[in-house]
Order: sequence, then structure tokens, then C-alpha cells
Amino acid sequence: MGDILAEDKKKLDSLLKGGSSGIEPLVFEQSYDIEYVMSHGQDSPFFVGLAFGKLLGTRCKACHYSYATPKSFCVNCGGRCSWVEVPGSGKIHTFTLCHFGSEAFLKETPYLLILVEFEGFNTLFLSRLKGVDPATAGLKLIGTKVEAKFNPALKDKLDFMRKRKIDYKRTESLSPEEKELIKKMEIKVSDLWFEPA
Ligand SMILES: [Zn+2]
Repeated sequence: MGDILAEDKKKLDSLLKGGSSGIEPLVFEQSYDIEYVMSHGQDSPFFVGLAFGKLLGTRCKACHYSYATPKSFCVNCGGRCSWVEVPGSGKIHTFTLCHFGSEAFLKETPYLLILVEFEGFNTLFLSRLKGVDPATAGLKLIGTKVEAKFNPALKDKLDFMRKRKIDYKRTESLSPEEKELIKKMEIKVSDLWFEPA
């Protein structure tokens, strides 16, 4: 037993005698891969909108508070919201330069995230900013006019998602080819980004 394990054994013995263990958390890396059926649910109009080059937000029917994002019920008053079109361009309210990201975006770091403000809307929209060299990012970005850009493949993606028949009772795994195709054809928030207007 090496020194490290001897240390753990000592701490374990101490724990069993009623002392505090001092045992360091056991940490390791593992791969996590599961298949599940994912639904955009009530946010679906937002994603369908993207396929047609439209940005959809919502507005409260009762207090008229407007959201630049999908919202079923108003956070302000609890009223029902209805869908409205958000202008395709706005201004950068603030930004952050990301040097770290989730697995999907890690290879794209460093990248810029912005909060966009739109005329006539009370809330902001979080998105990627492309077309600006992250190395040159600075306070001058704030207030810059930006416009929404949509992945040209979105209509094909929508077509694919609509036509795909999901077998809810299937027990076998997806084939590697199917997995790859579904990953490519899923409509995601990253199919939308902003660039300087
Ligand atoms: Zn309201």
C-alpha cells in the first residue's frame, strides 16, 4: 500500500473511531452518454421561427411587459403571454469574453457572448457575437448595432425534425450514423447568433 492509500486508511480508521474523517473527495473523469427524447415543448414556436429567419419573443396580455425570449406566463404579473416578433437588429447592452465553455463550445474559445437590447422590449437576449475578433473586444462594443444571423441549414433541420418518426418504445441504441445525423439536424439556440450591423 503506497503512502497515499496509507493516508486514506489512517483517516478511515479515525472516522470509524468517531473522529472527523478529513477524507478528500474522490474525483475521477468519466464519459456520460445517454439517449433520450427531447422536446422543445412550449418553446417550439421560437425554434420554428428561427427556421423562417424570425426572432420570436413574448408580451404579457395583461400588463404588456415584453420579453425578448419565450415566456408562457409573465414574471411581472402572472398573466398569459402571447408571441410577438422581435426586431432582427438591436444594440449590445453588455458582453463577456469566454475563455471556457461547455464541451460543445470548448474548441471555439475564446468567444464573445452578448446581451442584446431591442427597441420596444423590456428584457435582453443572450447570444453569441461573431464577426468581431475577441482579441479586440472592449468597452467600445457596448451600444454597437448588431443583427441576427440564422444558420442557413435551419429549414432542412426543421424538415428533418418534423419528418422523423420517434419510436417511443425502442430499446436498442441509435446507430453511430443516426447519432451523428441527429446531432447535426437538431435545431439549437446556437443556430442563431449576432454580427455587427
Ligand atoms: Zn404581466
